Amino acid sequence: MDLPLDITTIKGFLADDEAQALYSAAQAASATGPVLEIGSYCGKSTVVLGAACQLNNSVLYAVDHHRGSEEHQKGEFFHDPDLYDAAEEQFDSFREFRKNIARAGLHDTVVPLVTGSDVASRCWNTPLAMVFIDGGHSLEAALTDYRCWASHIVRGGVLAIHDIFEKPEEGGQAPLAIYQLALASGLFEAPERVNSLVLLRRC
Ligand code: SAH
Ligand code: MG
Repeated sequence: MDLPLDITTIKGFLADDEAQALYSAAQAASATGPVLEIGSYCGKSTVVLGAACQLNNSVLYAVDHHRGSEEHQKGEFFHDPDLYDAAEEQFDSFREFRKNIARAGLHDTVVPLVTGSDVASRCWNTPLAMVFIDGGHSLEAALTDYRCWASHIVRGGVLAIHDIFEKPEEGGQAPLAIYQLALASGLFEAPERVNSLVLLRRC
């Protein structure tokens, strides 16, 4: 993995082995088309996927409303006060995201879509070589992400889903639910597991 920036300097939620697996998958996939992620936060996964896309002169669409998931809100477990805009009285990761994309030199590759996953998908008509789902973890949010984006993945393309936990005490069950949906659909095969990440190939 050849990254333009030490990703340990970026706030976020991605383990090193997961970053490596995403990078390898995106490097192969982006040779055939664009990649899209749902859930960028401060840009940790964005830098990993974006650096791989840059090697192929491809594009990474980075979808995030930057208002945080449920667990990032003020008073919640994963709230980071540095990312709270006191004047606006709301969470805002976009400023930090932009800073990190600039530091990584990925302006020519990363296309931020600062809106909800459902809105971004509404008129979407571009085939995608890879989709990484790491957005909201409510069942509704995860189902929306799967339903809105999985259908745009080309044959041979990759669907990656983060935060898969078999046991409820380890974490929320919504990502696992959409992973099971993807498998049951018969449209995806060859699941590969790295830590809490799964990668599936579109048949
Ligand atoms: N991939 C990131 C972590 C993502 S955290 C990393 O590598 O660190 C989840 C992100 O999903 C948050 O930034 C939140 O704002 C975003 N999110 C949650 N629900 C969303 C939705 N419905 N549409 C777009 N983004 C959403
Ligand atoms: Mg995650």
